Amino acid sequence: MIIDAHMHIAISEIKPKELTFEQVLKSLLREMKSSRVDYALAIAYYKQTNFNLSLAEELKLIQGIKKLGAIGTLDLLNYRKIDLELLDELLNKKIIKGIKLNLGYQHIYPNDKRCGPIYKLCIKHDVPAVFHTGDTLDMPGEPAAKIKYTHPIHIDDVASDFPDLKMIIAHIGNPWLIDCAEVLYKNKNVYADISGLVIKDSDLNSPYGVLMKKRIQELYIYSDPRKLLYGTDWPLASMKTYIQFTKNLGLSKMDLDYVFYKNAMRLFKL
Ligand SMILES: [Zn+2]
Repeated sequence: MIIDAHMHIAISEIKPKELTFEQVLKSLLREMKSSRVDYALAIAYYKQTNFNLSLAEELKLIQGIKKLGAIGTLDLLNYRKIDLELLDELLNKKIIKGIKLNLGYQHIYPNDKRCGPIYKLCIKHDVPAVFHTGDTLDMPGEPAAKIKYTHPIHIDDVASDFPDLKMIIAHIGNPWLIDCAEVLYKNKNVYADISGLVIKDSDLNSPYGVLMKKRIQELYIYSDPRKLLYGTDWPLASMKTYIQFTKNLGLSKMDLDYVFYKNAMRLFKL
């Protein structure tokens, strides 16, 4: 079984710009089928743009599709009480499976007071807070992302202050993998997804692909292979490439089961 714990119904810059979100959804379902991916968690963006779906629009689009689940999000700088209440209701009805925080795009540290109510909501429903960490691509038409906010070291602050909060460091803090390893090792409530690191088949054996594999191996030897979740960051990365990349990491069959689906099932309560 394979669960993709991190993807987006988004119009990627490397795909033709005249795509609609409906067409992206169709190609997602096609790619899931051909790569034998059983379930995928679609992460919404904190606002609707020409390239990304807001949570409300994403929920409309994927309604009734059993193979897809949603991860909610909100505008960390401008949310109101009513926005938190909506997330609370969606979590109650199990329509969303977790909440994503866009640190780098919104220029906010994870230990900022404004994030506290979101963590409390995650704890109440026992679902993970997912943090975009590491390299952050500038979005067309958006203010530049700032990566000081996306260093995985800051996740330790929250993990220490909220020991009951399940947390996922998205993109294993790339390129700060060894810092991510320490945060995973130190905090039992923190996990990491391996999404968004390699894009296409030719990356697998490139100097960069080989380096990423070595760095991930270093990370799981230092921390624990069972702290990792499989995710792609599709449509950025091809699903087929990512399954191969993950199988190449040198994990045992049992550890690979945790990475491919067991961690996602337990953490997101699927
Ligand atoms: Zn992503």
